[in-house]
Amino acid sequence: MDEKTRQDLLKLFEGKLNQAMRLYLETCSRCGVCTEACHVYASMPQAKYIAAYRAEIVRRIYKKYFKSQGRFWPSLGQSKDLTEMALEELYEAAYSCTGCRRCMVYCPFGIDTQMIMSIAKLLLVGAHAEPEILTMLADTSIAKGESLEIFREGFLAGIKRLEAEVVAKWQSQAGDTVIPVDKQGADLLYVALAGAHSIIPAAAVFNAARENWTLSFFEAVNFGAFVGDPTRTKLILERIVGEAKRLGVKEVCICECGTAFRVMKQLSGPQPFQVSSITQVHARYIREGRIKLDPSKNPEPLTYHDPCQIARNAGVIDEPRYILQHLASDYRELAPEPIYNWCCGGGGGLVALGEETLDFRMKSSRVKAEQVRKTGAKTLCTACENCHTQLSDLNQHYQLGLEVKFLSSMVAEALVP
Ligand code: SF4
Ligand code: SF4
Repeated sequence: MDEKTRQDLLKLFEGKLNQAMRLYLETCSRCGVCTEACHVYASMPQAKYIAAYRAEIVRRIYKKYFKSQGRFWPSLGQSKDLTEMALEELYEAAYSCTGCRRCMVYCPFGIDTQMIMSIAKLLLVGAHAEPEILTMLADTSIAKGESLEIFREGFLAGIKRLEAEVVAKWQSQAGDTVIPVDKQGADLLYVALAGAHSIIPAAAVFNAARENWTLSFFEAVNFGAFVGDPTRTKLILERIVGEAKRLGVKEVCICECGTAFRVMKQLSGPQPFQVSSITQVHARYIREGRIKLDPSKNPEPLTYHDPCQIARNAGVIDEPRYILQHLASDYRELAPEPIYNWCCGGGGGLVALGEETLDFRMKSSRVKAEQVRKTGAKTLCTACENCHTQLSDLNQHYQLGLEVKFLSSMVAEALVP
């Protein structure tokens, strides 16, 4: 690596060094409590999959360039040069971590390995050594925000086709517009994923609740966050913030995408609208008597997987359970409790990398498959697209014999007319 590249990367590193990050980098006592907390290590016990080991690679670079001990006595400070080889180690560490933060809830100091891995990901982006496909997908999302007019007609035509499906199945009570788009004065902006499965059931529930809603032009998923690029993350986020402000909505409701919800909730800053997950909105509709569900539609044993970015990392834990009380007659909790729930093994961009990561995702999530199998459930539902894909792959790989469903689709299917 030439000196100019190294200096550029170190500038990126330095930009991440706020007070919390310095604390995480300087505090680890190597107690090892986080070792078994990581689903990757618990499923494949190798030192490189220990949370503290991953962080140590970043920590040693930090010591080398940002602490005097590492600069003057590198061997004493256990410091590490930022080289091509170090970048390879950072890649291995960052892209075998799903950013689930289960290790953090076990660590006595609350060290956030996901935050430390965000340095690793940023250095990889700076060195153009990140998974290229994630950056390409992020750039496609940004381009859509910059030239909406090109996409507009095609998008609206696609939505018209979906409307017919909603009417055929749920008899819309919403009036003329079954899936409103670009509606000035709507109360709620719904940000879906690209795909009918994320739009049709949601439309059925919004209309049943007589919500004054509108569908976003933009898809919720934020590939900038997956690849750990703050600039792209912000640009993707700002498309939705801009749309919400233009339409004057009071609430932005994010579909079943854990990362999109957490990014919007925690990074959009103070805004004139509140940010909710679709799970929170559905729980509210039930509580307010705006929709009613029929639990007899789901007599089989059912369990729920808490998406890490929605439950442990954003606190949406009670709402899905409240919905499930109204939705299923034999609900079975996973053990351990939600805050310690095993990650599905597909976060952090791993599912987005598809076949390339499939073998690793299956092997590193053995503990997840066992956790689900123990419930004896016949249906496994969740509220995140990434988790749904990963759990479906696990279901097949470990022959769990389950049906994997989206919670929001189950709500739509159980609507009492
Ligand atoms: S954030 Fe999750 S995947 Fe990453 S080291 Fe911690 S427990 Fe493992
Ligand atoms: S639990 Fe915390 S302090 Fe202990 S080794 Fe892991 S990261 Fe370090």
